[in-house]
Amino acid sequence: MSPERQPNPHPNPNPCPECEAGSIVERQGKTGKPFWACNRFPRCRFTSPFRPIPEACPLCSSPYLVEKTVRKILWAFCPNPSCTHQKRLTPFS
Ligand SMILES: [Zn+2]
Ligand SMILES: [Zn+2]
Repeated sequence: MSPERQPNPHPNPNPCPECEAGSIVERQGKTGKPFWACNRFPRCRFTSPFRPIPEACPLCSSPYLVEKTVRKILWAFCPNPSCTHQKRLTPFS
């Protein structure tokens, strides 16, 4: 009986895009800057400077997008540096 193979009874609100078993939590970096990492660290070494969202990129093979606020407007964009996908999450008012 491996605990990793059991279905999670609770839906994982922030699933880790790398291992899918862990969830993404906010951490404080050494410099005081927050970053996002998998709670299975060190077994999973996923980290991101932006909050990951469990939504696959429609343009490339990235399994997740990340959130970024620019001038109070929230955007989702692809973490792949060679991909230009982004979409606005804050509704137009
Ligand atoms: Zn993970
Ligand atoms: Zn992409």
